Amino acid sequence: MTVTSATGAVLVLNAGSSSLKYQLINPDTEIVIADGIAERIGEMQSSITHHQGGETITQDAELPDHRTAISVAQDLFAECGTALATAGLLAVGHRVVHGGQIFHRPTLITDDVVEEVGRISDLAPLHNPANLIGIEAARSQLPQVPSVAVFDTAFFHGLPDAAATYAIDREVAEHYGVRRYGFHGTSHEYVSGRVADFLGRPIGEVNQIVLHLGNGASASAISGGRPIDTSMGMTPLEGLVMGTRSGDIDPGVLLHLNRVAQLGVDQIDTLLNKWSGLKGLCGENDFRSITEKMAAGDSGARKAYEVYIHRLRRYIGAYMIELGPVDAITFTAGVGENAASVRADALAGLEHYGIVVDAERNAVRSKEARRISADDATVDVLVVPTNEELAIARQAATVVG
Ligand code: AMP
Repeated sequence: MTVTSATGAVLVLNAGSSSLKYQLINPDTEIVIADGIAERIGEMQSSITHHQGGETITQDAELPDHRTAISVAQDLFAECGTALATAGLLAVGHRVVHGGQIFHRPTLITDDVVEEVGRISDLAPLHNPANLIGIEAARSQLPQVPSVAVFDTAFFHGLPDAAATYAIDREVAEHYGVRRYGFHGTSHEYVSGRVADFLGRPIGEVNQIVLHLGNGASASAISGGRPIDTSMGMTPLEGLVMGTRSGDIDPGVLLHLNRVAQLGVDQIDTLLNKWSGLKGLCGENDFRSITEKMAAGDSGARKAYEVYIHRLRRYIGAYMIELGPVDAITFTAGVGENAASVRADALAGLEHYGIVVDAERNAVRSKEARRISADDATVDVLVVPTNEELAIARQAATVVG
């Protein structure tokens, strides 16, 4: 096995409540030296899978907490020839979901920053506490490497007030930080930059819609490199139909479920986050299974697909009006990059707006950025693979470099 030097590389960590994804990547060469995932941390039957130098190591390992997971990952790195502690890493870059109104830049992590991220955990109780555990684990396991937080909300920090404000009592909103923050910002920023590169135009001149369609899904309207609207709100629940999240829903439904079905706040939370979206509609959250079921004539899967497309088109329409002239509409993330039917159906019948998806181009499978619109269309429709790890590594490098 060849050992690629990790000098100058960034270890990117994405800590979830029971998982830890990591990638060791050089932000300049874009070479991924290794990546892996520790799963079911703190549960029975936890495991870790590590890829490096063309090899895959999968181990059942006792992982009672994230600190142990990082320590086991370190052992696997060492087994593959990279001792992280002495490899000359530039930084550890942490994905942090919520930056509240405080953090809108990648930030060197100090004790004060840890405290502040903890303080805004109320805004993202499902995510920030897990991110913090990852930060604390990395700081204790790799104390000599600076840690940098990259916030999922940061790109949307400057959303125009009209787009960021919920129409509720101002005092209540201000006291409790109730406003639209937006998420998936690292992806929307990275992809919109790649779109400008692909078109060979300065980003300041491009009006674009980015559709990040993964298990979580969000849309954004970006004018001249600045987001003017996005579909996720105070939490990542708002907006598009997602794998297991409802997206937009009349808030009256929550009141009804509480009053009439007597569901408590935690039950409603679980319903909307884990048992809704595609999963709630047809029992499946993976688009591949939905496509297979639709092909086999499953009416539930068909309905889920139709609801998904309907919501997506509603956002595309709204953002076309908000942006005025649109130069590009771009699909990214697992569904956006792979599901040709979603791309075709989301933009069907919009020829009179200059939007024409070319069926042959759309059917091509590729890992590269590509144009799928027809030559005579006035709006470029693109597929651009997202790369949040690379974006986090680059941002972390700018902070410490
Ligand atoms: P992400 O969150 O970006 O990793 O996207 C994950 C989702 O992408 C999965 O839940 C799948 O539904 C979807 N996906 C991945 N590969 C394909 C594919 N080949 N065709 C359709 N959907 C896919």
